[in-house]
Amino acid sequence: MHKHDQLYIDGRWVSPASPRRIAVINPYTEQPVGHVPDADSGDADSAVEAARRAFPVWSATSVDERVALLKRCHEIFTAKRDAFTATLVSEVGMPAKLTRRIQVGLPMQQFDIFADLLPTALAERQIGHSRVLREPIGVVACITPWNYPLHQIVAKVVPAIVAGCTVVLKPSEVAPLNAFLLAEVFDEAGLPPGVFNLVTGYGASVGQRLVSHPDVDMVSFTGSTAAGRAIGQAASATIKRVALELGGKSAAVVLDDADLPTAVRATVSSCFLNSGQTCTALTRLVVPHSRYEEAARLAVEAAERFTLGDPNDDATRLGPLVSRAQQERVHALIRRGIASGAELLLGGAEAPLPARGYFCLPTVFGRVAPGSVLDQEEIFGPVLSILTYPDGDDAAALAIANGTIYGLAGAVWSQDAGRAARVAGKMRAGQIDINGAAFNIRAPFGGFRQSGNGREMGIYGIEEFTELKAIQMPAS
Ligand code: NAD
Repeated sequence: MHKHDQLYIDGRWVSPASPRRIAVINPYTEQPVGHVPDADSGDADSAVEAARRAFPVWSATSVDERVALLKRCHEIFTAKRDAFTATLVSEVGMPAKLTRRIQVGLPMQQFDIFADLLPTALAERQIGHSRVLREPIGVVACITPWNYPLHQIVAKVVPAIVAGCTVVLKPSEVAPLNAFLLAEVFDEAGLPPGVFNLVTGYGASVGQRLVSHPDVDMVSFTGSTAAGRAIGQAASATIKRVALELGGKSAAVVLDDADLPTAVRATVSSCFLNSGQTCTALTRLVVPHSRYEEAARLAVEAAERFTLGDPNDDATRLGPLVSRAQQERVHALIRRGIASGAELLLGGAEAPLPARGYFCLPTVFGRVAPGSVLDQEEIFGPVLSILTYPDGDDAAALAIANGTIYGLAGAVWSQDAGRAARVAGKMRAGQIDINGAAFNIRAPFGGFRQSGNGREMGIYGIEEFTELKAIQMPAS
């Protein structure tokens, strides 16, 4: 059991104002695996005060000092990677081998990459007679979700700190245990008091206090579009910068000359990764009318190979959803999808499930109508929608791909590189993969439209936490 009764504020473990706790539930066993403090706005205030006090000294440290610290953090993090993996499997439920590679592997790489990119990201530029500097924005509140909890935390907290900011982290109340391990990494690495602070609790209490706090200069938020709207509103009273990384309903556009079996298999894998609880999941497969029957058969075959089971069993490809509430939400959306007239090809919300664990069956819908619930709503479960467009009409395929409030990711499949590049160029989304190209951890990550307005990762992810200053020099 992970019993956490204290918060990490000003370089020390301190007791929260109230003894209230939040239980963390293992989504496979449905049993508690630990608890964390249910902090309140007074605790959030103490953390912001500590971060504010630490800012002048920390922001004045040299780039070399911060790079050296990152390298120390990387070593300590690497030594704890098995503990991170076990903790994340127990609170998120993603299969262990994928958790190790993605949920722990990506953050581990980020320490090194940010150390490498820091000098370039913060380099001074000369524009005419002006020196243009990038200075740390100040105190940053980082508010994060549960689906890739550690990756989301590291993608904010690490670049903010290395840019010279000080941070208050409020992790997801659903999967907060990994954040305590990360606090230990910073503590062991000797990060000065107040540079990193951890306050656990709910969005409505701690989250809202941080977002509206006059001494917080920036909010970096990853989560649902609904919470993003509330945060943007609350933050506007103090004109703080708000970087939002929100939901998605991303499309894989398969052009008529594409390698269909490869495209369908890759789309199903993307859609079902982490049981569909991935913001960039390709949840809409958009195929030409004449290839529909073949695409539907291939999608069902690929989806059937997603074996449900214990996340710690290497044969498992699909773990449970994160919580009972998420399971109910996904099942309700599946029922609405059936009611909308789409064809249920596999899975659904009624077939028998394992006796325990918040599972959802791999589910495939065909003949989904543009504009219907299965085309528009982020489901965040293992549910694929197949839509069709008239053969050869790339513009019609693009209209479907761009026809939601979101714009986080997308994919294009074609044997013709020029045609694929033209379609990718017209997709209104922040991350587009052509023919299954791999994720690039150094490239900017973020959304168009209601998928958000921030950019994480690479040098862009460091610049996000800076203000630009122009100093005009007199003619000599
Ligand atoms: P959520 O919006 O419910 O919660 C995210 C975080 O915000 C939690 O820490 C929560 O406590 C806090 N919060 C909620 N309401 C708040 C408020 N009014 N004020 C301040 N804080 C508040 O999201 P979730 O269910 O944890 O995560 C799933 C969502 O996250 C999905 O919509 C998914 O697409 C999105 N997501 C986006 C990205 C991305 O990079 N674009 C990455 C991962 C997840």
